[in-house]
Amino acid sequence: MPSFKWLRKKVLRKKKRGSRNKDLLPLLPADRPSILTPSTSSENLVSFDNYGLFQRLPYEIRRSILIEAFGGRTLHMDLEFNHPLVRKSGTQTEISHCDLDSNLIRDTDIRKGWQWFGCVCHRREDGHCGSLFRSLFGTREGELIPKGRPWEDTCWRGIPNPSECGLLRGKDGPSKCFIGIIGWLLACRQAYADGIDVLFATNTFHLKSPDLLEHLQRMVLPQRLRAIPFLEMCWLNKYSRSQLRVLWDDPTTEDSELHALCRMVPQAFPNVLRLDITIICDIRPTGDDFPDITWATRRVRARTLKLSALAMEHSIFGPIERMLRTLGPGREFSITISMCAWEILADKHRVLYGSELKIEWYCSGIEGRFWKVLDPVNELGYWICCGDNQEMRMRYLDCGMGQGAENVRNAEIQEAAQIVEDAQIATDAESAENAQNAA
Ligand SMILES: [Zn+2]
Ligand SMILES: [Zn+2]
Repeated sequence: MPSFKWLRKKVLRKKKRGSRNKDLLPLLPADRPSILTPSTSSENLVSFDNYGLFQRLPYEIRRSILIEAFGGRTLHMDLEFNHPLVRKSGTQTEISHCDLDSNLIRDTDIRKGWQWFGCVCHRREDGHCGSLFRSLFGTREGELIPKGRPWEDTCWRGIPNPSECGLLRGKDGPSKCFIGIIGWLLACRQAYADGIDVLFATNTFHLKSPDLLEHLQRMVLPQRLRAIPFLEMCWLNKYSRSQLRVLWDDPTTEDSELHALCRMVPQAFPNVLRLDITIICDIRPTGDDFPDITWATRRVRARTLKLSALAMEHSIFGPIERMLRTLGPGREFSITISMCAWEILADKHRVLYGSELKIEWYCSGIEGRFWKVLDPVNELGYWICCGDNQEMRMRYLDCGMGQGAENVRNAEIQEAAQIVEDAQIATDAESAENAQNAA
């Protein structure tokens, strides 16, 4: 009998080579050979020998200078399994964020490995390249204009922000896309202690790598994470939609990627003051109870929307709200979900609370955010914000070519189903009336 063992082995070996090797994740060592930052009790013992004239300045002034140099920005902290980025020699011909895809490119000749990447976030405040609706419809007079929201970020694609990115290499001055703190941190122990504090305690961190989020507490020292006051995170990328299935199949489960993230945040970031989380994937439930309602009748649509809202509130917002309650009041929380899911929840809240609902509209009344109260006594609550509309984006990119005939057919089927449903409702109402009259 022919043996396919060799083929199996070959396939497995290939799979292993191509897959992300979690064994090699850049985790913190179990023992730290030496502690670089002084503890409060030993602060006065630290030598200023190499700190030069800078040591003569009072602490507050030193800190203000360091914040100007390395703080007060939004920073990307990223980890991915990929080929390393290398700098090309030669003159740069075009500006891109961090020189990505121009002078900073992936070297596919070098094996893939875990690559750290960090830079200043240069997303545009005007939402350019972000919301499809903002670029299509703009904003109405007097309407709030949301500043570049985390889900509108295009830094990772290297798309430049003309007013921030630069300079062209070869001209004077360092690239503004990096803070360039490493040299300072390596200068001396006190420079490290002051610099590392400013780095973590005065910047907003933007985290989106699922591997980094999963292993964050084993990769970054706990005191650094505890120092972070402002945080943006993107959770559950587009491939997570199938993983959410576990929540729809078993609403009592606490064993999901979302639950793990919700448990991690209060442990890792107990001092966070501003927390902005975007859930990238579509969180609308799937399964037999949640059919596609694009061409459904009114009754089926209403029932599906009601069940969808309940399921999302329980399975998605349940763990999120437990996380926010654990963190407690006195902070700013925003949770952004995709537009299709947001519309369902926003409609439900508008019906429930009417004019009492605190709601803001953007982009000619298409996008917005509303406030959900968790505890009216201590003003604990959070914004539920409208995010991207991936479906519309895909359709817009496809231009809906070839859909015309199918749409007409679907509309005809829907109309016929609606007539049957209306007739059924009328019959039911008549039977109920007759039964009442007979009683
Ligand atoms: Zn960015
Ligand atoms: Zn830039």
